[in-house]
This record gives sequence, structure tokens and C-alpha cells, in this order.
Amino acid sequence: MAPKRTSKPKVPKPTNPEGGRAPKAEPAEPASAPDPAAWSGVMTPPASGVKIRMYRQGHGDCFLLAFRRDDGKPFYMLIDCGMKKGSKLQCDITEVAENIRDATGGHLNLVAITHEHEDHVSGFKSEHAVFDGLTIDKLWLAWTEDLDNELADRLRTRYKDTLLGLVAAAGQLEGLGARDRSDTRVHRIIDSLLGFELSDEDRGLAATDPAKIKGRTNKEGILVVKRRADEREGTVYLRPHTKPLTVPGVHGVRFFVLGPPENEASLKDMDPQGEEFHFATAEERFFLAAFASSPPTVQEAHQPFESRYRIPVAKAADHEHRAFFKEFYGLGNPPAAGDDDRSWRRIDGDWLRSSEQFAIRMSSYINNTSLVMAIELPRTKKVLLFVGDAQRGNWVSWHKQEWDSRSGLANGEEVTVTDLMGRTVFYKVGHHGSHNATMNKGGLQDMAQGEFAGQFVAMIPANEQWALTTNDPPWRHPLDAIYKAILKKAKGRVFVMDRKLKPPAAQVLSGAEWQAFLANSTQNDLFYEFTVED
Ligand SMILES: [Zn+2]
Repeated sequence: MAPKRTSKPKVPKPTNPEGGRAPKAEPAEPASAPDPAAWSGVMTPPASGVKIRMYRQGHGDCFLLAFRRDDGKPFYMLIDCGMKKGSKLQCDITEVAENIRDATGGHLNLVAITHEHEDHVSGFKSEHAVFDGLTIDKLWLAWTEDLDNELADRLRTRYKDTLLGLVAAAGQLEGLGARDRSDTRVHRIIDSLLGFELSDEDRGLAATDPAKIKGRTNKEGILVVKRRADEREGTVYLRPHTKPLTVPGVHGVRFFVLGPPENEASLKDMDPQGEEFHFATAEERFFLAAFASSPPTVQEAHQPFESRYRIPVAKAADHEHRAFFKEFYGLGNPPAAGDDDRSWRRIDGDWLRSSEQFAIRMSSYINNTSLVMAIELPRTKKVLLFVGDAQRGNWVSWHKQEWDSRSGLANGEEVTVTDLMGRTVFYKVGHHGSHNATMNKGGLQDMAQGEFAGQFVAMIPANEQWALTTNDPPWRHPLDAIYKAILKKAKGRVFVMDRKLKPPAAQVLSGAEWQAFLANSTQNDLFYEFTVED
């Protein structure tokens, strides 16, 4: 039989760095009825520079950029379109999709999708009725999505094994959940993290017919766009530190690709605190995968005790000593009122609790596959930095290389990441402002230097109230320390999806400077907009 424990096991402390007690969210704004007249019409590009529109759909990214082409026509670029289920703010994601259509006259010159999480791609699928009707010239994806890339393929296989293992673990935890509160909690965490990776439909499929989910998950959203683009100029998979990209008709604007790193170790490097967040090791993955799809003999090989020392729960109920098991192992399920929950003596669910770690690692790993772009404007050389949800390993890798003649730059030109950072006047904050997605050294502190120092503006796509109250442990999106650092750097010129702009104290920014900032900004319930002049 299973060995007894002498003391009640401790529930493992949540290692999710988002975790801990919920800080207070900013008070929600009083809801007023959204006014569609405020956002109708075509999005006109500025005379020079770029207009950036951040939609306010809820937890997720959706950014529309408008450049003016040399012939005076607009060039529209969309970066991501997704939202976590249940995180809606004032407007529906359908209104977002329809607005993209109306604002662009139904023509997107370019779409870039940073990574395959729900909150970055779900809109393409849920609003495919709109996206199917758009003209989309071209799609940019990270090299990690390239089916012909060997490393990408290897990583995908492991990711799928872990994913299937987690679906199996979640299923088993559901069975145990009634007996033990800690199981219920772990189950909830895995469930919410799996929500990023798989649709409800795929969750069912993963449990019953795992072979069928290959290449599905959030990729269906990506496919909606890919189908449109492949009818025109196609899909390009971007690799970091290659020749800066240009787009037709928009003279001089250059796109430097910084990430994701083409390096497995960097992709698995997620946390700046030195905590142990590695993608599942081979053994661990095998352990999980064995549970998902392997024959019973393989599963048996991964049990902690040989079968003759074990009495499964189902058998204990009919066992000659069932009264003993009932009394001391909590087989009266759930325990009667006033009775102790004695299920802690059982170890049938113990290994499942470690699956929380896998779920966190898997989610962070996909974040690290984010496509990262520095967009350089031609005249002033100002830079806009879009980092998706890139985490530590992605950020650190940017600095390992520079651009020069070997990366296709002409006339002896050399560009370093520090140089691009120094010219960054617009920052799309990484991973909704979370703790490990905005580096300070080699990141925020290096942005907007010298002549660019006074011009820094940031956008944070986060719904703090939702992040804190519907997740357990609560997600600090944005993390207060990061929000404050960005706010300080930008002297208050920070758009957060869930709140109105607030002028800083006069000693931080003069009234005239704030007015100048507002003159380049638009605020309504559907989006925030800002123009970076060139
Ligand atoms: Zn995200």
C-alpha cells in the first residue's frame, strides 16, 4: 500500500512570479455608454511619421499603424489582434475588427503576428467573418512559425508533448479536485494557462484524439491571415539580426528584427530573478507525455512505486481493509461535514501538482518566441519598439549581435541595439507590463537618450482589474514597479488600455508640454492613438 505521511503535506508555494497577494487595482472608471461616432471613419496617416492606434478590447494586443506612402496613399500595418476570454473592457472585439476594416478601407498592407497566444491572435479567428473579407498583402511571422525550420520543428514537437501532458494532468486533477483544495487550485492555474494555448474544442480533442491537434491550437487564427496574404505577396518568416526590412512605397522606414533568438537556451530563459524556470527537461516531459499517450507499460515505468506496493483508489473501496482506508485515507468522498479531510495521506495526485510548473514554463516559453521589431523612421531616426510578450532570454539575446555590412547594411553603417534603444521614443510595453518582460538594464533605462530624451511615450495593453481579480494567483498586469518606472521615464505620457490619461504634476511636465502631447493623441472607448512625428 501507499506509504503514509507523518505530517500534512505543505501546499507548494505558488512559484508563478505573477503571484502573491493581490495589490489594489486602480479604481475602475465609471462606465458610460461608448459612442461609436467617436471612432468612425478612415484612419489618416500623418504627413510624416506614423500614427499608432492601440485598441482597447481587453487583455490582449491589437495595434494598427498608419504610414504615409511616397505617393500620398496610406500604408496600414496591423500587429496582433487578440484578447483573453472574459477580459473585455468597454467595447467588443467585433467592433475592433470592424473598425480595422473601416479605418483601412478594407486593405491591410501588412500584418505582423508576434506569437501564437490567444491574447494576440484570437480575434483573427473569432472575427474571421471580417478578416476573410479584407485584402491583406503580406504576413510577417517569427522564424519559430516556419515549418521548414529544423530548430522550430524540434521545439514544436516538445511543446506539443508538454501540452498534451498538461491536458491529461488537468483532466486527472479535475477528478481529484473534490478531495483536496490544493488540487483544485493547481487545476485552476493549469486551466487558465492552457486557455492561452488551446481553444475549448481543441482541449476536448487533445484528451480524446491527441494526434489531431497537431498544428492547430491558436494557429487557426494565424491561418486566417495567412490564407489572405498567401493570395497576394505571401508570408515571410523573420530572423533576428538579418538585413533590416523595408516596405513598398514607404521610403526610408526600416524594420530591424531583434527577436526571437535563434537559440534554444535563450528561448527558455524567462525570469530575471534567477528562479528556476526552465522548459521541461527531457525526463519531465517524458513523464508528462507518457501520461498523455503512451501504452500502460510505459506509464508504469514512471510510477514512483512498483505496482505490488500500490493500492489504487478504485481498488481500495473494495479492499478487505476498506474500513481502514475509509477512515484514514478519506475515501468517504467528499468528507462528511465536521470530518477532517484525510485525503492528504494519499499520493495518487502528487505528481500532478508539479504540472503547475510545466504550465508556467510553457506559457513563458511561447511568450519568448515573440517577434520583436524596432521600426526606424527615416528623417529623425526615431525608433518605435514593439516587443510582443518577449521575456528575459529574448531581451538579453538582442545585444549579442549588431547590424553591419554582413547583415546587408551599406556604406560602412553599423547599428547596435543600444543605439536603437537610445533612439526609442515609443515603446509597446512587453507582456502587458508583467515583471519579466521589460528589462531595465539593456532595456528601459537605455531608451530615449540624448536628443530623444524628452520624447518618450509608451502604450500598455492591460486590463488590471481583470488580471487581478479573475486569476489565481492574481496577475500583476501591469506590475506596479514597472508601470511607475515607465510613467516616470515618459513623464506621464503613458497610455494604459484600461484607464484615462492623467496629466502629471506641473514640475514633471509643463502644461504646454502636456497639451502638445494631447494634440498628438486621440482617446475614445475603442482605442487610443498617438502620432510619432518624423
Ligand atoms: Zn500577451
